[in-house]
Amino acid sequence: MHNELLKITQQLATLGLNKGTSGNCSVRLDEGFLVTPSGMAVDEMMPSHMVKMTFEGIAEPNKKPSSEWRFHRDILQQRPEINAVIHMHSMFATTLACLHLDIPPFHYMIAVAGGDTIRCAPYALFGSQALSDYALSALHERKACLLANHGMIALGQDLDDALAVAIEVENLCEQYWRILQVTGVDVMPPLLNETEMHAVFQQFRGYGKWKG
Ligand code: 13P
Ligand code: ZN
Repeated sequence: MHNELLKITQQLATLGLNKGTSGNCSVRLDEGFLVTPSGMAVDEMMPSHMVKMTFEGIAEPNKKPSSEWRFHRDILQQRPEINAVIHMHSMFATTLACLHLDIPPFHYMIAVAGGDTIRCAPYALFGSQALSDYALSALHERKACLLANHGMIALGQDLDDALAVAIEVENLCEQYWRILQVTGVDVMPPLLNETEMHAVFQQFRGYGKWKG
């Protein structure tokens, strides 16, 4: 799993979704989970730098787990259907997160995040338990949320699924940001209603990778 976690981390950098030491990823193990190291540039990371942790929050010796290990731990512990977590400071998700905006149902693809909105969790210090608590609530019945003044989190059944959600959410955020350039932040674009979003979820049942 060390190689898979490194590969996803590298892909995020190649796609321009994370830069420098921003962001982190984790994946469930048979016991505990594996999380990326703290403060390390992606091009320096090797499989051996990935950090094994228990759900009690104990990291393997002589390694420094991501400062966000609490929300990785709490999500994997409280969401049994989720096996991988990606955190990014990607440009458009972070821009909207800095405006404290929830993403409304302006486009049907919002359904890939599990509902008709993507919530923005209130601000809390990075690495704090408060941030994890806010993120967990914002992720209720969702596979993604924004983190105010910080970035976003995407979840998946596995690392590839989490990456697909992350890419689509960033895409939606760019589209919504562009819409706001026309309408202004205070003016809502025409939104899909509950019935229309329900139909999207029905349609997804037979469609590509989102059917899960
Ligand atoms: P780490 O390098 O500790 O994973 O922190 C990066 C980050 O995005 C903090 O929110
Ligand atoms: Zn961060």
